Amino acid sequence: MSQKILSINSGSSSIKFKFYQMPEEEVLASGSIDRIGGKNSEFSFSAHAEKSKIVKDIPDHSSAIQEVIEMLLTSGIIHNKSEIDGVGHRISHGGSYTKSVLIDQKVEDRIDELSVLSPLHNPVNLIGIKAFKKLLPDAKEVAVFDTSFHHTMPEKAYLYALPYEYYEKHGIRRYGFHGPSHQYIAERSVELFGKEQTSRLISCHLGNGSSLCAIKDGESINTSMGFTPLAGLVMGTRSGDIDPEILPFIEEEFDMNSHDVREMLNKKSGLLGISGISNDMRDLEEAASKGNKRAQLALDVFVHQIQHYIGAYATDLNGIDMIVFTAGIGQYSPTIRAMVCSQLGYLGVKVDEEKNKTNALSIEADDSKVKIAVIPTDEEIIIARDVMEVAGFSD
Ligand code: ADP
Repeated sequence: MSQKILSINSGSSSIKFKFYQMPEEEVLASGSIDRIGGKNSEFSFSAHAEKSKIVKDIPDHSSAIQEVIEMLLTSGIIHNKSEIDGVGHRISHGGSYTKSVLIDQKVEDRIDELSVLSPLHNPVNLIGIKAFKKLLPDAKEVAVFDTSFHHTMPEKAYLYALPYEYYEKHGIRRYGFHGPSHQYIAERSVELFGKEQTSRLISCHLGNGSSLCAIKDGESINTSMGFTPLAGLVMGTRSGDIDPEILPFIEEEFDMNSHDVREMLNKKSGLLGISGISNDMRDLEEAASKGNKRAQLALDVFVHQIQHYIGAYATDLNGIDMIVFTAGIGQYSPTIRAMVCSQLGYLGVKVDEEKNKTNALSIEADDSKVKIAVIPTDEEIIIARDVMEVAGFSD
């Protein structure tokens, strides 16, 4: 029997969704709502091979979800909202959850508690859950955590060198994020290239948020984000790793409180902080090509960090069979991919410049010892598959 499943991926001011016929994995409709909470929110919707875009004020996430259901009804994709059998929510921080779970009050409470660790995302994820519960009381709701895929990391990779009781009593450790994306890349790579070619894989998710994951035979063994999604690589507006002593220094020196510092690290740092121009890679590449030195510096620091993580993960994996680039920058920026690979010759990594320019699936040169691929990620299908499994629809 077929089910209709909605995958929901909520950000702090946006919602992306895909509506599937499962288990066929047919996308019936998809879309996104951006700038929720402000004036002129943008709702893009695609169904029956037609795309539409409307601009209207959508004040909050609950209203955004109502808009999505209304659009599914008015476009004739469903005739009654009871046709939606299940909803999968991408949840940012799952703490110690090692897999996706059916949402009940206990799960909701836990997601709420974990909001302290992911203040930008867990609260809006929770609003989504509550809104659907009200709108679709009979649908199965499933939580798919960004952190779960990384539960296979060994202790030595997730433990911080802090007093042990912080880990034991308060769960302060590396969790890692972008789980559904790295999982999709791991599974899709095997489908496309086979197990042997993908045994020691580095997945590079480079978007507004960026993280790398070392994947050994399909399992995460290390990843660059940490206790929160602020850690690791330089990102659009997030700092990534910095010397921890900088934080008390800034607080004391500039009389900033922890809220101000958190804002600065999450929203004013990264590519935007270094360049002073933009957090958007397209803007920075353009500015750098016209000679803007700080834009070039932002690119250089971004790439340098990625190269360091790849070197570290080559050690964790004892060599690399394959590197995959994904997400906005990974998928569409030949410049960044070429820059990253330019210092990896010692690992046998060699890019074919022509293939790289066209964002081809395989971009390694014939004599490269490492396979290099460009694969669009698909977090929503991982969410929909998990709904099928966890809700018992696959039985
Ligand atoms: P999010 O993390 O919000 O899902 P995306 O995966 O969509 O973000 O990635 C957004 C990033 O991808 C932005 O920095 C954007 O500039 C970059 N990007 C998109 N297209 C291109 C391109 N053609 N060249 C370079 N960068 C690109």
